[in-house]
Amino acid sequence: MREQIHVLDVPFDVVTLQQATERVKYFLNEEGQHIVCTPNPEIVMEAQKDEILMNILKAADLVVPDGIGVVWASRYSKKKLTERVAGYDLVQNIFEKIQNTEHSVYFFGGAPGVSLAAAKKMKQKYPDLKIVGGHNGYFDEKEEKQILHDIKKLSPSILLVGLGAPKQEKWIYDNIRLTNVKVAIGVGGSFDVMSGKTKRAPAIFCKLGLEWLYRLLKQPARIMRMMRLPKFVLAVLKKQIYKKIKI
Ligand code: UDP
Repeated sequence: MREQIHVLDVPFDVVTLQQATERVKYFLNEEGQHIVCTPNPEIVMEAQKDEILMNILKAADLVVPDGIGVVWASRYSKKKLTERVAGYDLVQNIFEKIQNTEHSVYFFGGAPGVSLAAAKKMKQKYPDLKIVGGHNGYFDEKEEKQILHDIKKLSPSILLVGLGAPKQEKWIYDNIRLTNVKVAIGVGGSFDVMSGKTKRAPAIFCKLGLEWLYRLLKQPARIMRMMRLPKFVLAVLKKQIYKKIKI
């Protein structure tokens, strides 16, 4: 049975990284197509004003908290999220599990050259991983048709889509049926990290739940996006206060 909690109406599955990985493995052997989303607080805030995004998150088959803020916010639910499940870590765990199986993967997204560089790095790390293709995330309508055609022809089991949110969620939702993939995952900037273009925060930052601070220090241009973090905290607290008043 699927256990979910809601953070500002966005449903999150109550899973650890390990359990999320198992869930994806299960999807691979199940009938049908599955969508996996990895929202952080910024995306939760975006969904407050983007109904299409909110509905996609509600319709997804697995929604994991890719942000310590979401884990914090779950303290107000009966069931609590116990850990952050970063999209990057989930994907690494999946690669580990599928590398010796028939399952394959396609890398879609990132600046030109990044998905290819990411694929090369991942092949070094997981030599038996079947990466059947990839394409950058900057395309026009004509190229998009070709990308879809390729994905259909190559028939990967897993499609990783790194177009940034909410573009990737919308792209997956609109196009998954035009492919044969079993699982599509929105992975944000993961190809940048896989390729070495950007670095993951040092372990100490991750342990302290400060990966967002590291990203801000490294990419100060993210400040505007990060302004949503305090808004997220306020929105969660406000909702709690309203709930209490009602009772
Ligand atoms: N991106 C893309 N196509 C676009 C816009 C963005 O492929 O039209 C890629 C971009 O190159 C980057 C990723 O999407 O690799 C978004 O990265 P970001 O760190 O903003 O994502 P987050 O993990 O924060 O959602």
